[in-house]
Amino acid sequence: MEEMIIGISTSFSAAHSIPGHKKCGKIHGHNFKVEVEISGRVKENGMVMDFFDLKKIVNEVVAKFDHTLLNEQIEIPTSENICLRIFEELAERGLNVRRVRVSENEDKWAEIRN
Ligand SMILES: [Zn+2]
Repeated sequence: MEEMIIGISTSFSAAHSIPGHKKCGKIHGHNFKVEVEISGRVKENGMVMDFFDLKKIVNEVVAKFDHTLLNEQIEIPTSENICLRIFEELAERGLNVRRVRVSENEDKWAEIRN
């Protein structure tokens, strides 16, 4: 049977500064958007995974970053490194993660495709 991809998105608000960066070295904040896609077979209930369950797991991972100073958790908290951290934590929780995108603005994002 074909594999199906499903996805959800969520968001969190956090502050960060990028060490050594001329402009982003100053502490500032973003409303980060996080998009996650997983894949799997469609089960008898017609779902790869309940969207509610997927969103709950992603929100649990993202909650650790919400309203924090990201530098206290990630040494160089670029969108790329935040994306990597989220990808790793979702994979550790057993999800078959295919894509994670972290956007710090509408026109700037980092993405992992697996
Ligand atoms: Zn920034």
